[in-house]
Amino acid sequence: MKIICIGRNYIEHARELNNPVPEKPVFFMKPDTAILQKHNPFFYPEFSKDIHYETELVLKICRNGRHIPEKFAHKYYDKIGIGIDFTARDLQAECKKKGLPWEIAKAFDQSAPLGDFLPKNNFPDLKNINFSLKINGDTRQEGNSKDMIFNFDQVVSYISQFITLKIGDIIFTGTPEGVGPAAINDHFEAFIEGEKLLDFNVK
Ligand code: MG
Repeated sequence: MKIICIGRNYIEHARELNNPVPEKPVFFMKPDTAILQKHNPFFYPEFSKDIHYETELVLKICRNGRHIPEKFAHKYYDKIGIGIDFTARDLQAECKKKGLPWEIAKAFDQSAPLGDFLPKNNFPDLKNINFSLKINGDTRQEGNSKDMIFNFDQVVSYISQFITLKIGDIIFTGTPEGVGPAAINDHFEAFIEGEKLLDFNVK
């Protein structure tokens, strides 16, 4: 399986990092070795001094497909979950400055903590899903899928023009504003509509 991540999909987040608001979805990938399974600790890597959290709604692909028209895209994912797109912001800044790819900043081991998934049918409106992140009990990020620049169907359709989606693939759909640094001993909890789906510690 593969992990595809959408960048700059919330206007306020694009602004907080001084990035232009994109006209087309921006995406990058993480390998399957990036997944941090539920309840395992995240070990702060030695190669960075500025690991940031980005809390994101995540889609799980349930059907193989390529060149998926937007109107049929909803048939290709059946579960929605929450994950953290950990980013080595210091390394990413260097990559951006030099015009280099982002992999060392985005695709490293454990850079994709992934919580439980909920059936898509649980949600009456996919364009109105609340999600949040607490660190050490304080709310640090709150988002709603209505603020996405490109909605779930547009994202799935767009990616599939370039890359075949396969059953089990995962799409991180972008972070709202409020990203910030993680620290050793932090306790992360992530929620969809108030239900806790992800819980881990930083060591
Ligand atoms: Mg992200």
